This record gives sequence, structure tokens and C-alpha cells, in this order.
Amino acid sequence: MAMDKISRKDFIDVALDVKRYVGFLSDLGCKGLDCSPESLAILSAWGKPRIAKMGMLETLQTDLGDCRRCGLAGQRCHLVFGTGNPHARLMFIGDAPGVEEDKDGKSFAGAAGQLLAKMIEAMGLSRDEVYMTTLVKCRPLERRNPLPEEIKACFPYLEKQIFSVNPEVICTLGAFATQVILGKHEGVSAMRGQFHTYGSCQIMPTFHPSYLLGNPSSKREAWDDLKKIMGLLGLERK
Ligand code: SF4
Repeated sequence: MAMDKISRKDFIDVALDVKRYVGFLSDLGCKGLDCSPESLAILSAWGKPRIAKMGMLETLQTDLGDCRRCGLAGQRCHLVFGTGNPHARLMFIGDAPGVEEDKDGKSFAGAAGQLLAKMIEAMGLSRDEVYMTTLVKCRPLERRNPLPEEIKACFPYLEKQIFSVNPEVICTLGAFATQVILGKHEGVSAMRGQFHTYGSCQIMPTFHPSYLLGNPSSKREAWDDLKKIMGLLGLERK
């Protein structure tokens, strides 16, 4: 009986993998799978998602290129794609690059990023072991939230990053990123502290590190959220 259940789950996982991967290829302009060595390698690796997805992030970043799909392109110094382990078990998603990230082209480069790095280290991980990115890849001026049309243009790339990295847990940082990804309207205080199912992974919303910098009393709640992630991933503090 147990074997039947595993087989059914594997079949569904592979079917979802195929559906999403064909969608990904279609978005890149491919008309179908051919018999090239690359396609055959992909076909033979179905059911082994981490192998099948090797190289997808690089392809995605190349496809994004010098993206001009929304108005944020004209305001940026750098497009900030994302950074970290392409096969991370844990992914962090914020709302948008800030001043420092825009200047350096690196995700979470400023003071909030340093606090996030400390939070990650407290979980027994390093920045290189997780994957970090944002809803939109270019900085909106004056620290405003991204506009609906900017999110609409950029969100497909985030979805493909999530599909490619295939994390077990996503930690959304702040209300805005959480609301967009989960399609909810509550504040972060109402959404944090519990896992939300998103495709094949679990989402744990928590406070954005930039909020924690100005509201250190909320660090305890953020740490509670991270401990729940550690519990799910079987992590221990080093
Ligand atoms: S925010 Fe996203 S869609 Fe808009 S220009 Fe930057 S990369 Fe392109």
C-alpha cells in the first residue's frame, strides 16, 4: 500500500514537473522538445528534479538579460537577479532591491542584508547555502512598493526561479512580498508564525529585516518563525 502511495505522489510530481518545464521552455520561445542531447538529458532526468533543473537559473538570467519589460528598467543602476545556492532547501524572498543592492547589483547588500545574514547564521546556515531574491529585480525609487504592472512583468521570473531552485521552504520577508506571493491582503503579523502551502513547498512569512532594524522588539517573533523553519528542515544551531 505504501508503495502505491509513493508511486502516485511521484507520478504527480513528475507530471507537474513536465507541465511547468514545458511552460518554461515555451516562455523562452521553444516550440517543443527536440532530440538534442540536452533535451534527452532532461527527459531521462524527469523524476529527479534537482538534476533536471541544473542550469535553469543561468538560462533564466540570460533570458532576463538587460530586461526592459517594465518602467523600473529606466530607474535602475543594476538589475539584481538573486544570489545563493541554486539548489537551496531554503529561499528568502523580499520585495525589491534597495539603494545598496541597486548600487552593487547584489541581493540584500545593505544593513538589512547584514541583519538577514546574521539571522541565517543563527539558523546554522550561511548566505551561500540559501537562495535570496526579490519580487521585482529592479529598484523602485523613493522606497515605494512595486506597482501592479511592474509585478506582473517580473513575477514570471520569480516563479521560474522558485521552480528552478525547488526549495522546501520559502521565507517571505515583509507584508508586501507575502501578500503578492500568497494572494492575501492581511498584514505580516496575521500571516507569520504558520506555514502556508505554495505548490510543492511551504512558505513561512516573517518580518522584513529592514523593519526589524527599526523595531528590534519584533526580533523575537522573527526568531520564532525561523525556528519553525529549522524544525521543518531538521536544522540545528551551530
Ligand atoms: S523589474 Fe523585472 S520586469 Fe521590470 S525591468 Fe526589472 S527585471 Fe524587467
